[in-house]
Amino acid sequence: MAIRVLASDVVSKIAAGEGIERPSSVVKELVENALDAGATEISVEAQGGGVELIRVSDNGVGIPSSEVELAFQRHATSKIGQLDDLERISSLGFRGEALPSIASVAEVEVSTQAVSDTAGSQVQWKEGHVVRREARARSRGTTVTVRRLFRFFPARLKFLKSPGTENSHVAAVLSQYAMAFPGVKFGLVLDGRVSLRTTGSGVLREAVGEVYGLEAAGAMLEMEKQGSPVDVSGLISPPSLTRSSRSYLSFFVNSRWVRSPLLARATEEAYRGLLMEGRHPIVVINLLLPAGELDVNIHPAKARVKFGHEQGIFSSVRKSIEETLARTPIARPGAASFSPASGQWQSPRMIMDSEPVFAVAQLPAMELPLLRLVGQIARTYIIAEGPDGLYLIDQHAAHERILYDRVMAQWSQREVEVQGLLQPITVELSPREEETLKAGIELLEAFGFVIEPFGNRSYLVRAVPALMAGANVIEAVGMLLDELAVREGPGSREEKIALSLACHGSVRAGQQMGNDEMRELIKQLEQTTQPRSCPHGRATMIHLSSRQLEKEFGRTN
Ligand code: ADP
Ligand code: MG
Repeated sequence: MAIRVLASDVVSKIAAGEGIERPSSVVKELVENALDAGATEISVEAQGGGVELIRVSDNGVGIPSSEVELAFQRHATSKIGQLDDLERISSLGFRGEALPSIASVAEVEVSTQAVSDTAGSQVQWKEGHVVRREARARSRGTTVTVRRLFRFFPARLKFLKSPGTENSHVAAVLSQYAMAFPGVKFGLVLDGRVSLRTTGSGVLREAVGEVYGLEAAGAMLEMEKQGSPVDVSGLISPPSLTRSSRSYLSFFVNSRWVRSPLLARATEEAYRGLLMEGRHPIVVINLLLPAGELDVNIHPAKARVKFGHEQGIFSSVRKSIEETLARTPIARPGAASFSPASGQWQSPRMIMDSEPVFAVAQLPAMELPLLRLVGQIARTYIIAEGPDGLYLIDQHAAHERILYDRVMAQWSQREVEVQGLLQPITVELSPREEETLKAGIELLEAFGFVIEPFGNRSYLVRAVPALMAGANVIEAVGMLLDELAVREGPGSREEKIALSLACHGSVRAGQQMGNDEMRELIKQLEQTTQPRSCPHGRATMIHLSSRQLEKEFGRTN
């Protein structure tokens, strides 16, 4: 074929392919536009995973009627004028590509009113062309409605996940912006359900509470460090508050949400040694640095940035976290609380880790006496009474021990319980994960997985080990592959798999348990080989003997 310049609609579609990967990309671009327009209230609605409908409304400055159609031309932007401007960008957008890209892959309707206009306007695009325009008054601001996304792009549609999964991507985008802009009031409605609502109070801890829950937000530690080359601030979790995936690391650079392996590594280094394997912190970190120290123009979806002084930024972030962790006495999670009555955060009651609360008893005998259930506290620990005093059992650790023993026993007897999935689950793997899977597939099958290739690094999970039936399969497979990929570390590959399965199948901290469930858990724990420690080597229980109790209360001398 001879060389020729592509027609402009082809160019737009190719450009759209880079920036608009899935429905949440549309949401991201429209929310960024609303923020750039100075909105203080932004509401987002999505239906059918965003494929049927996405609507973003804001109360920003609006688009003057005379400019609405211009805004939909490629490279039309009000945010930069010349090349130099790229070096001192303070807006989130700057390429003038989002609106035309979206209009080339979906039907778009814009209704807007600018401050300067007496009447607003409503304009509709189909297949990249204006099909309707009319004057219509409305309150100041802009509403963009996107329908039938990727309708003429079957390949794109095919690669989208279920509406539920696409919705969750949309929710993730909104959550990030809610935390990046605590002063803006966000609302998200997914398929008619309110999924997120923030107050826009301007208090970061409140925004984080709206996203991750009040308990997590209350336990998080405040970080603030001014310096060169960067100011670092935000909220970070104490080591006692962790999650099983890295998706709770949020980084905002000059209020721009970015994905940054560099910052993720700095964070992980700061927490090194404080967290159990496979656990990750929750962090919401804001970096503020001169615009000139930053290149924001390196990624089609603007999701990555390049720092001028990578090393300096890396150590600033690591040190800020380390100092915050070192300075702060370990507060038990949930110690700080939000009081709806006063509308205030109650200052956390700090419990120093060195405070002698309970002594961990070293008992040589492994087996457990018969225990009587007393109850559950903090939805995390089971209290039980034995012939010699009190037992405080960590429900997750104990359940892990039970499941680990069961998996290992089934595996060694070649009698694994398998649960077929009614609806196979698709997992998409990175090249590295795919390699790990290929190398370990027989072992995984021996543990009860049925996984088939589905083309293009996608795999169908058709069955899982029975004890994982209720767990998040995609997350579990990801974690398993991560663990198998690491060759070092103690334990055989079989043990690693059993550990990961036990961890995923077991009851979490924070989960309410019924009395019968707790009794059953204690009974099964009594029958394990090592009831007093979990397979990671942590204690499953703390024993406070009758003698210790008497001593603490001064009943003996
Ligand atoms: P960019 O954000 O890179 O400038 P877009 O294609 O996203 O490019 O938007 C083009 C222009 O349309 C923006 O520069 C802005 O002037 C205008 N615009 C888009 N969305 C809004 C909005 N919600 N409120 C006000 N103006 C908007
Ligand atoms: Mg934009």
